Amino acid sequence: MTVYSLAVRHARLMGAAMLAAFLFVITIDRMFGHTSWAFAGAIIMLVLVNARMRLFNCPNCGKNLFFRGIFAVPWPNRTCTKCGMELDKKDAG
Ligand SMILES: [Zn+2]
Repeated sequence: MTVYSLAVRHARLMGAAMLAAFLFVITIDRMFGHTSWAFAGAIIMLVLVNARMRLFNCPNCGKNLFFRGIFAVPWPNRTCTKCGMELDKKDAG
């Protein structure tokens, strides 16, 4: 398992969590009227799920796969933007 494939799995999980959070807010809104705590709960859930994002770093230089420069993006880099290492290739060690 490469760091890239693990990061892709995380990106898919984030997509699913985003959808679940959206449906959660819509459902609570319809059942109980508009409440800001449903929205707050969804945000907290997304932050918790996304906390794993910082674990996906380049094994060579340590740069996070989800960052392009200073910007965080929802999909990981296949090639490290800092050292150019191909992250979808199987590790030698
Ligand atoms: Zn790197």
